[in-house]
Amino acid sequence: MIEFERVHKTYKVGGREITALEPCDLQIPQGQIFGLIGHSGAGKSTLLRLINRLEEPSGGRILVDGIDVTALPAKGLRQFRQKLGMIFQHFNLLSSKTVADNVAMPLKLAGEHTAAEIRTRVAMLLARVGLSDHADKYPAQLSGGQKQRVGIARALATSPKILLCDEATSALDPQTTAQVLQLLNELNRELNLTIVLITHEMDVIRRVCDQVAVMDAGQIVEQGPVAEVFLHP
Ligand code: ADP
Ligand code: ADP
Repeated sequence: MIEFERVHKTYKVGGREITALEPCDLQIPQGQIFGLIGHSGAGKSTLLRLINRLEEPSGGRILVDGIDVTALPAKGLRQFRQKLGMIFQHFNLLSSKTVADNVAMPLKLAGEHTAAEIRTRVAMLLARVGLSDHADKYPAQLSGGQKQRVGIARALATSPKILLCDEATSALDPQTTAQVLQLLNELNRELNLTIVLITHEMDVIRRVCDQVAVMDAGQIVEQGPVAEVFLHP
């Protein structure tokens, strides 16, 4: 469960304060696919990045499985981040590394696994996302959908319980988008994975999300089961 209690965020730019997120409350149960939708600048990315503390909140508390993330010291934060995976619009793969090495990266950084364990785990992950035959290729040799599947395999390497998706299908064509969403749906069920996804496309919300929060100007203006929130289009 991810819980926001009166969480807010302001950025200081020059002498000015920009409010990216007004005080907000949010509860995302384990195993849900939770969508964040809204126009550019609404605060979606800020909200998402507060969950894994890529951004520090200006106030309020964020609890993940009852742990106050906002109070974690550096070491605790490193361990906590292994419980979260993240995927991105432009995939953020390392172009000089092979597919297998990209997927192995979080395991190597964790420093807790033997080379043999990493090899087995990477092979398993690549098989799961349908890329076993591409392990030794470089990102530039892959299609957009394949790149995002590498991103997903990498994000799942440390067996996280939460996957954060920042516009993960926005750079993909409709057919590839459908395939990636299908994969996310399957992983959600197989792993009881909580997925928080940002999109600006209503269709993405309708296809995969259980619940949705609609954001505007730093506020959650509506929140609930998708069928209720979008009952009146
Ligand atoms: P969205 O993801 O919905 O497009 P963001 O969370 O990226 O929205 O941005 C929300 C607001 O915060 C915007 O006004 C944006 O310009 C501002 N903002 C985001 N990141 C920063 C930053 N690092 N420094 C200053 N302002 C920022
Ligand atoms: P290094 O560059 O550190 O010597 P390698 O190039 O042998 O390591 O591999 C990097 C990591 O990716 C290793 O942990 C390895 O287990 C894994 N790996 C490399 N190639 C494959 C592959 N084809 N299938 C599965 N795992 C692989």
